[in-house]
Amino acid sequence: MSDVRIDDLPIRDELRGKSPYGAPQLDVPVRLNTNENPYPLPEPLVERIAERVREAARDLNRYPDRDAVRLRTELAKYLSDTGGFPLALENVWAANGSNEVIQQLLQTFGGPGRSAIGFEPSYSMHALIARGTGTGWISGPREEDFTIDPAAAARAIAEHKPDVVFLTTPNNPTGNAVPAGTVRALYDAAQAAKPSMVVVDEAYVEFSHGDSLLPLLEGRPHLVISRTMSKAFGAAGLRLGYLAADPAVVDAVQLVRLPYHLSAITQATALAALEHTDTLLGYVEQLKSERDRLVAELRAIGYDVVESDANFVQFGRFADAHGVWRKILDRGVLVRDNGVPGWLRVSAGTPEENDAFLDAVREVKKELEA
Ligand SMILES: *Cc1c(COP(=O)(O)O)cnc(C)c1O
Repeated sequence: MSDVRIDDLPIRDELRGKSPYGAPQLDVPVRLNTNENPYPLPEPLVERIAERVREAARDLNRYPDRDAVRLRTELAKYLSDTGGFPLALENVWAANGSNEVIQQLLQTFGGPGRSAIGFEPSYSMHALIARGTGTGWISGPREEDFTIDPAAAARAIAEHKPDVVFLTTPNNPTGNAVPAGTVRALYDAAQAAKPSMVVVDEAYVEFSHGDSLLPLLEGRPHLVISRTMSKAFGAAGLRLGYLAADPAVVDAVQLVRLPYHLSAITQATALAALEHTDTLLGYVEQLKSERDRLVAELRAIGYDVVESDANFVQFGRFADAHGVWRKILDRGVLVRDNGVPGWLRVSAGTPEENDAFLDAVREVKKELEA
């Protein structure tokens, strides 16, 4: 046993006293806290993954394809088929989750002496990865209703001249989408200020009522769109994220990526999953209608709900959000307290899980009003 604590180690000053990312992984009957797809992979896909992995296993004495050419080609095809904009291998880069994609972007375009801005509340990992890469972090403004006011955001960009601008659409944890017009305006503001890179995190775009922003890549070489297989594809355990951008951006991130960062097993598994895109995305429609049902029922119960384009819903308002989180957990349902004062977030689960959640919040509401 050791009495040495983290802060006794000669760690970097900016890491002192900080906590790691930590959505609780509690073992409760209904887990609706990390925006995963609630459906296990279909059996034919599980078989196909096993087949592909078996093939890959024979070559594990060798390093994997460093440039993941087959996988990036298939991802480009998926984006072209669904995004309304033609993309090819040289526009696409893949890594171990979009978190690694974002880390590589900050290693390339951020770093010591540089800064990044995000409009908060938003995805907390953007700020955490900025810190991990020595990039300064600027918390940009969001309105009371969680939308981004383009004028206020443009002023923040002009004032701070960040090297990287993050826009998350649909936004996590609030669920609302950023209109294309706002993205265009903030891209222009970022070019006038620096010019800086604009990273649009589209982790939830498959659940959106609107379209992907991929067509905005045309004529915007400093725009990057990041995607993931963790949410709509139902493959959070796979760890596969990717980006679409100008080919120069793809070349640039290769300056910082670790050689052979994407294992042969990961590449084989992701290729198998992409063969089953239709089945995997089949669940998306069902989750969208469950998401809409959660919005409607939470409103009927009497809660405030943010309009959602994602597979989760932000609801409130609570005098003591953490206390309510606890009471819902006591009823066997785990939701997310993101630390946004007054609000909680619930992921759309199976219809049965959502019913259990709705029963729990109805009970909690009664108890609070008693
Ligand atoms: C979940 C999520 C991701 C996904 O990260 P992965 O590393 O791909 O699992 C990225 N961005 C946002 C906004 C998310 O909520």
